Amino acid sequence: MMTKLIFEKSDNGVCGINLTDENLNFDYIDEKYLSGSDSTILPEISELEVMRHYKELSDKNFCIEKGFYPLGSCTMKYNPKVNEMLAGLENFCELHPLQDDEDSQGALNLMYNLQEALKIISGMDAITLQPAAGAHGELTGMMIVKKYFETIGQNRKNVIIPDSAHGTNPASAAMCGFNIIQIKSDSNGLVDIENLKSVLDSDTAAIMLTNPNTLGLFEENILEISKLVHEAGALLYYDGANMNAIMGYTNPQLMGFDIVHMNLHKTFSTPHGGGGPGSGPVGVVHKLKEFLPVPVIDFDGEKYYRNFDLKHSIGKVKAFYGNFSVLVRAYAYILSMGNKLKEVSANAVLNANYMMNKLKKYYLLPYNRKCMHEFVLSGEWQKDDGVNTLAIAKSLMDYNFHPPTVYFPLIVHEAIMIEPTESENKQRLDNFIDVMVNIAKEVKVNPQNVLNHPINTPVKKVDETLAARKLDLAYKQEV
Ligand SMILES: *Cc1c(COP(=O)(O)O)cnc(C)c1O
Repeated sequence: MMTKLIFEKSDNGVCGINLTDENLNFDYIDEKYLSGSDSTILPEISELEVMRHYKELSDKNFCIEKGFYPLGSCTMKYNPKVNEMLAGLENFCELHPLQDDEDSQGALNLMYNLQEALKIISGMDAITLQPAAGAHGELTGMMIVKKYFETIGQNRKNVIIPDSAHGTNPASAAMCGFNIIQIKSDSNGLVDIENLKSVLDSDTAAIMLTNPNTLGLFEENILEISKLVHEAGALLYYDGANMNAIMGYTNPQLMGFDIVHMNLHKTFSTPHGGGGPGSGPVGVVHKLKEFLPVPVIDFDGEKYYRNFDLKHSIGKVKAFYGNFSVLVRAYAYILSMGNKLKEVSANAVLNANYMMNKLKKYYLLPYNRKCMHEFVLSGEWQKDDGVNTLAIAKSLMDYNFHPPTVYFPLIVHEAIMIEPTESENKQRLDNFIDVMVNIAKEVKVNPQNVLNHPINTPVKKVDETLAARKLDLAYKQEV
């Protein structure tokens, strides 16, 4: 049913509050806002109707509280509600960022301990909590690479990135002025070592890798890769946006990486979407410690303090301390999980392999090998029958599932990228599998039926091109 706009529900003279003019002090309000109210047109609607209006709108939204959210490459998992409460504690919320270190010992203690925890998880020697998201962490990492080579007097211009990488990787390196050299994936979906050898030279500054990569596959030659890259005098950058396949089993340091970013808003709770909020701490090995943004949070044995004294610091990358409330959630998550962080990884990997094996009879699985926290199917068989991946994704919405990530990574045609996460139970996974299987069967007997979806959503099939080209979100009121 179409919901009317709140302006269309407006009724002349209706008021949503119970205050009379005597209760109000108009002295503070500029005269021009009081007289001639026709210049400001606001809806006139009662308190009850306002509440119902916005509740109705919120009910049209899909959210994790309503259903399964199997977005690959973005770890959209359940984020404990208690973390929201902790992030909202008055003492955190009302602490001014310009407060002295002495007055902010609790907050600095939390940040210091979070740095220490992330050091253990990543194996790195030092951490900055400043970057506001994954891409921002990548940019910070690339700035460190640049400054490092400047400092040791080498002019290295190239950054090597596999064709399966997240698009932010080449974007971040290019923003720092590096040339991007793309390398191919081999028939197993892993870095093509011969291709890597052929581009690696004294001009290489770094390689950016995601492991497990965006196909959900573990780069099993990672030790050979890191040896080759280090022998060429270059650095290894680890895109750790999603850590929930490896935590407690291995870490980027053991694989030979020098710089890492981790998305707290993916692996370590904080609901995110529509652009935020996020946090992308960066960790580095010992020799890059002095290049981190300032300040880092330190402890002198008695007090926690902001340390601005890093010899080669790239400077600040974010105002104040980074996104503090995201840091609170991540710290709460890590503490409450404790040793169970390892179980998080185990369950994430188990769930993904269970689903992949149940679905591979019905959808093409281009890389048929054990996956990590996510896997990538291809809708090519269905496309041959006239139903593309987009239509399959849209169909899922009618069964109360958020569509998975589609058409990424780019190296898989008609890609359907699924990450069940560790927090879903077997019933929910089976339910999703059943619906995916039924859609595949329906494509065989009646493709048009599948193409007609979605029919149960507030907005049905949209013309995606028109919606992108002629976006018009403004409500124009007749005066
Ligand atoms: C999400 C993601 C990023 C980017 O992180 P943002 O916080 O969205 O900037 C980078 N790489 C991978 C593999 C990701 O999944």
